[in-house]
Amino acid sequence: MHDNAAHRRSARSDVNRRHRIGDRGDHFLRRVEGETGANLSACYQCERCTNACPVSAFMDVKPHQVIRYIQLGWRETLLASSTVWVCLSCEMCTTYCPNEVGVAETINHLRKMATHSTIRPKEPHLAVFHQTFLEELQRFGRVNEFWLMGALNLKPGVLKDKIRSGALRQEIELGYTLWRLGKLKLIPHRCKAVRGIRALYRNRYAEKD
Ligand code: SF4
Ligand code: SF4
Repeated sequence: MHDNAAHRRSARSDVNRRHRIGDRGDHFLRRVEGETGANLSACYQCERCTNACPVSAFMDVKPHQVIRYIQLGWRETLLASSTVWVCLSCEMCTTYCPNEVGVAETINHLRKMATHSTIRPKEPHLAVFHQTFLEELQRFGRVNEFWLMGALNLKPGVLKDKIRSGALRQEIELGYTLWRLGKLKLIPHRCKAVRGIRALYRNRYAEKD
């Protein structure tokens, strides 16, 4: 009798726990679907997105797993992953998905959520590069590579790390070669539509997670 009551209590607690996990997953899934317009519920884990991705070998959470983790509500794991920073936004995953899930758009959105969260980025250098890229885009309405690298080098710790690793020397040599070939412009041109681009940025990136 005593055992039966304990068993019922334990079964009830299992059901509650499953509900809680399910609710959390559903909530996060609904939220990301609503914010991106991606059809994440349609994913059946065929892994074509991961097989098409040129940089999946460098990701700790593969593209097909990203979708599964969203369904499970594993927000923190996703925002702390290397994947959100390593992704190139090349959209190969989206192109190859048989269900038009919108994997690239989703990872892009997670990157934005990671930027606004207090979670420490797993790839701090890539996170700084991403932020600098967006700042330069807002400044001129387009990105000038020379000014981008200059702004990046002024971020805390970046120049020191590049000097230590020898990357700065390589960067200068590459920059000089590109300049001689006429591929690197030293004076940035401001895009005529810069105000519109700034407004777009504010709408898309300024809201908090
Ligand atoms: S290709 Fe599409 S359906 Fe297949 S695992 Fe990736 S997101 Fe899911
Ligand atoms: S958009 Fe990102 S996840 Fe998709 S294929 Fe390109 S690098 Fe991989």
